[in-house]
Amino acid sequence: MARYTGPVCRLCRAEQKKMMLKGERCKSDKCPINKKRPPPGKDPRVRQGKRSDYGLQLREKQKLKRIYGMQEKQFHLFFKRALRMPGITGENLFALLERRLDNVVYRLRFAVSRSQARQIVLHGHVHVNGKRVNIPSFLVRPEDIVEIGDSGKNLIIIKEALRESGKSGVVPWLNLDPDTMKGKFLAVPRRNDITDLADIKEQMIVELYSK
Ligand code: SF4
Repeated sequence: MARYTGPVCRLCRAEQKKMMLKGERCKSDKCPINKKRPPPGKDPRVRQGKRSDYGLQLREKQKLKRIYGMQEKQFHLFFKRALRMPGITGENLFALLERRLDNVVYRLRFAVSRSQARQIVLHGHVHVNGKRVNIPSFLVRPEDIVEIGDSGKNLIIIKEALRESGKSGVVPWLNLDPDTMKGKFLAVPRRNDITDLADIKEQMIVELYSK
């Protein structure tokens, strides 16, 4: 599947939001957003016009899609699935995104970014309930055990990512045993639980796709 391979900091600058796409660099002073660098391709002296409703909705969708490292086609499929589920579509969309295996691997701190987590999954280092799963979009269910298989146990990137996790811990809907590199998906998070993405206005995304 086609993926964006350009400079990822540019994506954050376009949205003027820290989307944490680069792991450790995101927490450092080197982050261009921390340095207040302007959006790419625009002369900062040129005053930006007011955005239309469509423009605002589009930006919100692009943000969420990029945070989870997805392409339009797959993101739209997730949205359609969320629409068919009972309940509030925006909240369903978040629930599905959080269940993605690459996201769970990132949240368990086996990787410093979702893109790194995706690579770890693609290379077959992740097991779910004892079976190797190399599909980043695989949806994890409550009570599933997600762990690093033998092939990944000595990988430096995973060890270093886990070392960092000792400082910040994992989200409350996951449980992690860093010594065995094994985690458990306790429950699907509710929208309010996902505090690091509290500023995303998912209703705008619903309105955009409903046009
Ligand atoms: Fe975004 Fe991280 Fe780059 Fe900062 S360092 S602009 S948060 S990807």
